[in-house]
Amino acid sequence: MKGIQFPIFKTKLEGKTQSFNLIDPKERVAYFELKAGFEIRKIREYLKENSFIAYLLGKKNAGKGTYSKMFAEVIGPEKIFHFSIGDMVREIGKELGDRKLRKELVSFLEENYRGWISLEEAISALEKRDTKTLTVPTELLLALVKREIAKKEKKALFIDGFPRDLDQISFSLFFRDLIGYRDDPDIFILIDVPESIIDERLKYRRVCPLCKTSRNLKLLSTEKVGYDQKLKEFYLVCDNPNCRGSKMVQKEGDELGIQAIKERLTTDEKLIKQAFSLYGIPKILLRNSVPVAEAKEYIDDYEITPAYSYEWLAEKNRVKINEKPWQIFDDRGNKSFGLLPPPMVVSLIKQMADILT
Ligand SMILES: [Zn+2]
Repeated sequence: MKGIQFPIFKTKLEGKTQSFNLIDPKERVAYFELKAGFEIRKIREYLKENSFIAYLLGKKNAGKGTYSKMFAEVIGPEKIFHFSIGDMVREIGKELGDRKLRKELVSFLEENYRGWISLEEAISALEKRDTKTLTVPTELLLALVKREIAKKEKKALFIDGFPRDLDQISFSLFFRDLIGYRDDPDIFILIDVPESIIDERLKYRRVCPLCKTSRNLKLLSTEKVGYDQKLKEFYLVCDNPNCRGSKMVQKEGDELGIQAIKERLTTDEKLIKQAFSLYGIPKILLRNSVPVAEAKEYIDDYEITPAYSYEWLAEKNRVKINEKPWQIFDDRGNKSFGLLPPPMVVSLIKQMADILT
């Protein structure tokens, strides 16, 4: 991000030369134990009696869901709840289409909604919402969040998708009181991912038309890669055995990369900067890129996202997969490496442990 500088988090441990394959779940467990075992136990101990509320703020496609889900996987999924506002709004959209569920929802809102527009107008805004902008009145959104949270037992919360606009930032300051988690610490988790990373994540994204699994031709390959000799194009083959070798395809619009979501990215950046300058609320800063010149000092090689490229070996009739560290330019124009999710989560765990204990 321009304007504010997130520190590089050092995940490299002096004197430890052991290397891990971070794609492998078992090796990942050993990796987290080595890099953050002490802090993992501290957070688990804390969560026995307490919880927290964390707001994830990062640009679209910054990996918010990935990091919080991996955090939960490491610390204990039964203690942590990833709450996506976007998913909630979509689910409620479905409820509104069902006569019985709709009645229940409306009667809940009659008792709990307070806002500047009538409940009827608010519900109609929810129904007509454009799924891209999710323009649901904030007061209605908060009543709905409260309802969802009351349904579940108390857990630590990762909130994804709120605050979404600048006007919602001040609402987030009162959020924990609103849902009755009065003594819980609230934390902002700010994620800095260069736009060039978001761009390539979009441009090379491929989706299985059958099971909808998403992969990346350049950054997250499948086991089998095919080659279309007519089009002279490489393609990913879905790993899911049920899909029987289904060819993964590009979603319409993805080829444009960040061009199509520029406006959203600008709003997201303003939001991050605003949250960054708030007083009185602890912040965790996650930075996804490390300048190549400084990498040796801060990170281990295996923590860098690999980039894949392919060669067609005609005489052997197969595709050869090449792998090398992925290099991008960050938003300041420094040649940088992109980090895999696990080192981001190590940084998250360590900063979280500091705040909570
Ligand atoms: Zn599939």
